[in-house]
Amino acid sequence: MNLNPPNIMPPNVCIFCGGDGPFSSEEHIIPHSLGNDLLILAPGWICDNCNNTCSSFESRTLNNSILGLERCRLGVVTKKGKPARSDVHHISWFAEPESRQNIVSAEADWANIPMLLHPDGDSGKIVFPFHDDFCYDITKLLLKIGIEVLTPTLGGDNSINHIDMKSAKNHILGKDDAPWPYFVLMSESVEKHLISFLHSMPEEHEYIRSCGFDLFFHVIEDHIVLFFFYGQFRAAISLSSRKSEWRKVLIDWGISHIGCPIEFVDLSA
Ligand SMILES: [Zn+2]
Repeated sequence: MNLNPPNIMPPNVCIFCGGDGPFSSEEHIIPHSLGNDLLILAPGWICDNCNNTCSSFESRTLNNSILGLERCRLGVVTKKGKPARSDVHHISWFAEPESRQNIVSAEADWANIPMLLHPDGDSGKIVFPFHDDFCYDITKLLLKIGIEVLTPTLGGDNSINHIDMKSAKNHILGKDDAPWPYFVLMSESVEKHLISFLHSMPEEHEYIRSCGFDLFFHVIEDHIVLFFFYGQFRAAISLSSRKSEWRKVLIDWGISHIGCPIEFVDLSA
């Protein structure tokens, strides 16, 4: 399946750098490795250089972040037919596609992994730091997904076409490295306030939900905010600027949230 924007020819001008190519490949808006084979841009939207830039933070996210671990939990199989794997905080996690969801296997030098063992000795918890350097890669991935969905459709929607995503593009391309916040949402009830980007296409919507993800856009004053769900990972990010005053809507909705990367943790209370 391929959901190219209807009736819109690729501009052959890169949506990130404004360059004129070359354009030799199609672009998976959400990485193929997360299970997406629906949301794809044809060649002519993202130049090869920008595609390479995106691939590097995408692969760090998939191989080392909490999103990679979630990918294993969802039982994703790679293009080569192998169970997904992610190395997070010195533990290698492996999907178990033959089992039901929520089953993963893990390998590590366990003597060096901090664990909270139950007094019965048979069970325990592994403790992870919530923030790490891969949060910076997750920011870029979220911005990339939002821009790649919106840019081809911006012209037709007057409610959002005044919104400038230049700063987000510069951040993705590494021209501006000041941290950019996203918020991890701790409650699934956020969904009742949102309308999926694919709500008018029920078949496609059902399909991406079955792959584990969903996308929502919400305009909050001068911000267009992407809400991205992947399994149990739910995050929101402004595509308009680093400012975070839009998150008052999360407070109004009663959605507890945690600011990432660590610079933004103080905003989260
Ligand atoms: Zn480019």
